[in-house]
Amino acid sequence: MGKTSKTGGGGQDELVLVALGGLGEIGMNAYLYGYGPPKARQWLLVDLGITFPEGEFDPGVDVILPDLRFLVEERKALSGILLTHAHEDHIGAVIDLWPQLEAPIYATPFTAGMLRAKSAEFGGRIKLPITEVALGGKAKIGPFEIELVTMSHSIPEPSAVAIRTPAGLTLHTGDWKLDQTPYVGDPPNETRLAQLGEEGVRALICDSTNAMREGRSPSEEEIARSLADIVKKAPKRVAITTFSSNVARIKAVGDAARAAGRTLVVAGRALHRVIAVARETGYLPEDFRYVDQQQFKYIERSDVVLLCTGSQGEPRAAVARMADNEHPDIGLAKGDLVIFSSRTIPGNEKSVGRIQNALTRMGCEVLTDQEALVHVTGHPRRDELKQMYQWIKPQVAVPMHGEARHMRAHAELARQCGVPSVVVAFNGEMVRLAPDTAQVIDDVPVGRLFRDGRLIVPSDTGPVRNRRKLAVVGIVIVAIAMTRKGEVLNDPEIELDGVPEFDSEGEEMFEIVADAVDGTLDSMPARKLKEIEVVREAVRRAVRAAVYEVWGKKPITKVLINVIDD
Ligand SMILES: [Zn+2]
Ligand SMILES: [Zn+2]
Repeated sequence: MGKTSKTGGGGQDELVLVALGGLGEIGMNAYLYGYGPPKARQWLLVDLGITFPEGEFDPGVDVILPDLRFLVEERKALSGILLTHAHEDHIGAVIDLWPQLEAPIYATPFTAGMLRAKSAEFGGRIKLPITEVALGGKAKIGPFEIELVTMSHSIPEPSAVAIRTPAGLTLHTGDWKLDQTPYVGDPPNETRLAQLGEEGVRALICDSTNAMREGRSPSEEEIARSLADIVKKAPKRVAITTFSSNVARIKAVGDAARAAGRTLVVAGRALHRVIAVARETGYLPEDFRYVDQQQFKYIERSDVVLLCTGSQGEPRAAVARMADNEHPDIGLAKGDLVIFSSRTIPGNEKSVGRIQNALTRMGCEVLTDQEALVHVTGHPRRDELKQMYQWIKPQVAVPMHGEARHMRAHAELARQCGVPSVVVAFNGEMVRLAPDTAQVIDDVPVGRLFRDGRLIVPSDTGPVRNRRKLAVVGIVIVAIAMTRKGEVLNDPEIELDGVPEFDSEGEEMFEIVADAVDGTLDSMPARKLKEIEVVREAVRRAVRAAVYEVWGKKPITKVLINVIDD
């Protein structure tokens, strides 16, 4: 690297951005900045997150990761991985994918703590080389001089990243909102943002999540007040579920319990993990007091506040098990209040609705952000975005962290704010940020991987594709034993799975398959029976056709032929 001079054959040094995830979707954030001549760029990866399956049907997949094949090719030129905050859509793929990259990781103490805690829980085989950067701190990562700027969001230590190279100053906002009273941690460092604007920012890469929502987002402190009010007035038990990483909300629930003279009970492993890291890093007081879920049943109904996981309808989480009356330690009853201090992420509406219905049938009162001020977004609405553009005054804007419609709305707003050059790009499109005109100059391969049990598999060619089919049509397996001369030994073995047992006349599907197999074998000339592949294909087709005729669906059909030497 670095052999090519500024004017050499590799072309002039430039700064580029290409997302391997996060442009055109809310999730799977992985933004790659490249600096140098086109043939010898050095890379900085900002965030490495996951997304969740949504809408489409991916049986057995609970997590989707970015396909890093482009970066794996380039990994010798990868200077480091910088994490803006500890949300799963920003750090969730690190543990699985770091072995493909083996680059140093940079993160603030809380983010580093969350990553370490998760790594210890999920195997802990790999020791991640994490360098902690203080809030507002600086680091030199290859040719990138980075400086963190503290923002506010819905988790401690969200950091925007100022990236300095000889091609100028770029600001990558990460996820943010403007909250002067974030309830834990510092308010956003607006002074520093304004100073960066004065220094002159070439490109602003900015959060688009709420670019379609007018106004400003309420403060986390207002939610804390509202929760305290609701808890104080509740006659019986109060259960509150929220995103486990929202430390401000955890603190607000703890404070609400204390103010009402109630005992706080915490249920759910993810919450325990976050509370431990938040205590270590000073975001919750050492004496943040709560009792374990086993104590729940001994506490008077009017004396308890339960904080629990499962706000997105996760079937194994505490609130789902409570709704089904299957939690080993926690039972709710008529008159109890359950607060969803969260927003339902698109795709989860059904599972959340099911839980809320079950709780309602049980006689609980269910309160969501539709009825009361029990949740706020962590992302900037339009007035906050405008404020950001006033401070930063970039020459180039690239909307990120949004679906296409959010990024378009954001781009329009950036133009209204007077940004001369606005580039809307999607995953895999390489944008030149500086020098010269900012525009898409190249494409790199991108895609998605599935976490399937303990393995990472491709999304397009992997096992999930077949599973989708299996889920719809079932499978028929036929095993035939034959001699080399083409003599069939014994009756073929037949297995049906996920296929109806009887046709509409009451005939067994097993018999229909058996007849199709026998008929095919009987009708084949002796010389054909010696050709294994011909037999296999003829039987497979006959079975599929016979089942299709009565069912109207073609099962996946496997024919196994065991050739026995006579
Ligand atoms: Zn976030
Ligand atoms: Zn995010």
